[in-house]
Amino acid sequence: MSRPIVAIVGRPNVGKSTLFNKLAGKRIAIVEDTPGVTRDRIYTEVEWLNKYFTLIDTGGIEPESDDIILSQMRTQAELAMDMAHVILFIVDGKHGLTNDDREIAQMLRKTNKPVLLVLNKVDSKEQSEHYYDFYELGLGDPIEISASIGLGIGDLLDEVIKNFPEGLDTEYDEDIIKVAIVGKPNAGKSSILNNILGEERVIVSPIAGTTRDAIDTYFEDGEDKYLLIDTAGIRRKSKVSENIEKYSVLRSITAVERADVALIVIDATQGVTEQDTKVAGIAHDEGKSSIIVINKWDLVEKDDKTMNMFVKQIREKLPFMMYAPILFVSAKTNQRMHKILPKIKYVSNEHSKRVHTGALNDVIGEAVLLNQPPSDKGKRLKIYYATQTSIKPPNFTLFINDKKLTHFSYQRYLENKIRENFGFEGTPIRFNYKEKE
Ligand code: GDP
Ligand code: GDP
Repeated sequence: MSRPIVAIVGRPNVGKSTLFNKLAGKRIAIVEDTPGVTRDRIYTEVEWLNKYFTLIDTGGIEPESDDIILSQMRTQAELAMDMAHVILFIVDGKHGLTNDDREIAQMLRKTNKPVLLVLNKVDSKEQSEHYYDFYELGLGDPIEISASIGLGIGDLLDEVIKNFPEGLDTEYDEDIIKVAIVGKPNAGKSSILNNILGEERVIVSPIAGTTRDAIDTYFEDGEDKYLLIDTAGIRRKSKVSENIEKYSVLRSITAVERADVALIVIDATQGVTEQDTKVAGIAHDEGKSSIIVINKWDLVEKDDKTMNMFVKQIREKLPFMMYAPILFVSAKTNQRMHKILPKIKYVSNEHSKRVHTGALNDVIGEAVLLNQPPSDKGKRLKIYYATQTSIKPPNFTLFINDKKLTHFSYQRYLENKIRENFGFEGTPIRFNYKEKE
């Protein structure tokens, strides 16, 4: 069963990202030194009256091209109509109706999904002077809000929830392992998916008549529950005729953001491509677990060195992801396919593993003895104490004397020691520092 998806669309500057941030609670900018990606979230989980849904800010999705604004908006609206269960069409109640609004409305009127017309920037209890103009769009009564001040948000959310189609999952289930199968078109994602879903697993298939909406596939394997995210999207990849490649990147990104584990599928005959690097970088930045699946292994001419050569190439191309296990498979001949699901379960457990503070401090203490922390102008980094402060991904807080003395290479050394002792296969590890005298 899939989580309801709500998409925000609208022309630039109407307040889409302001509304997104309001609903998300806070904006999380992701900045990391590897592999050089800084970006804002476009997806967030929202809870309202104990119902959970996924919110996507399509305005944050910039198709990479010299697209003029209109075609950007078109792609964003298409994405929303394709993925979302409820669409929030944001317009500007202060400036009034524009031709771009009309263009978008014309597209949205064609969908049979609920579209809520949201008049933003109505910063007081008084009705917008442009209120009645918006009826021209043929999308019903405008709902007035102020995203920046926070007026009308509760009423809007009530309306959103009322419009969810039947049969979606709005409950929070901690136990479900959420998996995104990503990779270039033709890498073999659908073949792998079908193979995983194969025979005996209990597939709770989409409710009759809503096939188009069911982008997530839920199944059980013994006691374990899995959600394959956006997998129907894989099957109908050619829906948007132009920009298939770009579209697949966008979908991959959104799927990864919603997942715990990313299966990064690489076509063995093509090696690691730029798109693979990009999606892997996002999985890493977002703190997801990753498994690198080299598919079509049957097509590779092999001798006893081939596999090592591949491993070397992958590690070179994805140096920020040394922790990701690599599986060589063939969806065609079934070679090693049975290893995928257990590996997903394993890395998912590692992703949410907690280590005891005592054991952690033993390891850090020993590491410090073996290799002294860095020093600057006679002052040496002191690590007083360490503790794991979160999971998914594991985050370690080190209490130290001076943040200026921390160094990336020493952090990597500590990371390696932690991995040697505790594993954490498949998952990135984060560190943060707190000064303490
Ligand atoms: P986006 O391009 O649609 O994502 O729009 P932004 O969220 O970036 O907002 C565009 C501008 O409108 C920013 O300067 C916001 O501060 C402003 N804005 C957003 N929501 C409101 C609102 O409710 N009231 C007012 N007065 N300004 C708003
Ligand atoms: P997707 O676009 O990533 O979902 O890729 P598909 O699963 O649709 O596979 C693309 C093509 O590659 C199809 O013709 C598959 O039959 C073929 N294919 C997939 N996996 C393998 C494999 O392991 N070996 C070989 N030889 N062909 C494969």
